[in-house]
Amino acid sequence: MEADRSADSPPAVSATMHRAKTGARAAHVTVGKVRDRADGTVEIDCSCGMVLTNGPHWSLDEHIRLHRAEARYLALSEVAPAGMPRLIPVAADRFPR
Ligand SMILES: [Zn+2]
Repeated sequence: MEADRSADSPPAVSATMHRAKTGARAAHVTVGKVRDRADGTVEIDCSCGMVLTNGPHWSLDEHIRLHRAEARYLALSEVAPAGMPRLIPVAADRFPR
């Protein structure tokens, strides 16, 4: 859903924010196969270098989804225009405090 805009207003989503989101998606893809660990949990590598795993109260898929959402959030947060009201307070570097 898009808010009404006049013809001379900027695009709804800037190219910068779109690129940030696309970049985050490309930088966080699972690689290889799911591995069984000695403690009975499973794990898989993310292309960023982090190992994603399940736990006592979450599935591997839930971790993958959260990881990707965090990556998108951080990428968008970093390029969001200064002064845009934020749900999560950020410091001067635009990362969460
Ligand atoms: Zn990652």
